[in-house]
Amino acid sequence: MSTLRLEIVTPERTVYDKDVNMVVARGVDGDLGIMPHHIPLVTPLKIAPVKAKIGNNDEFIAVHGGFMEVRKDKVVILAESAELGSDIDVHRAQQAKDRAQDRLNHKQTEVDHKRAEAALQRALTRIRVGGGE
Ligand code: ATP
Repeated sequence: MSTLRLEIVTPERTVYDKDVNMVVARGVDGDLGIMPHHIPLVTPLKIAPVKAKIGNNDEFIAVHGGFMEVRKDKVVILAESAELGSDIDVHRAQQAKDRAQDRLNHKQTEVDHKRAEAALQRALTRIRVGGGE
């Protein structure tokens, strides 16, 4: 089975760098399944798990927005933050989720509401990838 390289990079580190068979990521216009020799594209991503298929195995990475660039044999994801399941502190994410939900239950400015929604999405993504749900 042919492969493509998946690199997930944050300002701090390279979180993921492996040969994979398929990448599934949530673009702003919907889910994208990328296989080798996909047409080149660049898209913003939503806050969601990214799935890397390697043979019969699926690996999940929590990716908090950013951009995905697809080239012939390579997918590069640049995100403000991203974590592997094994790096996720699920308890911390659950606390972040509770704080975000609490903020969403109170009247606030639109900017604060958007921030709380993004914080909630980050927390839910971490809980899913970290195996907390
Ligand atoms: P919190 O409120 O718990 O800090 P946050 O969503 O505000 O969460 P971010 O600003 O997205 O956190 O991330 C700051 C840094 O902390 C990043 O390096 C990110 O990878 C890391 N991080 C955040 N939450 C977790 C977690 N639950 N487990 C592991 N690393 C985390």
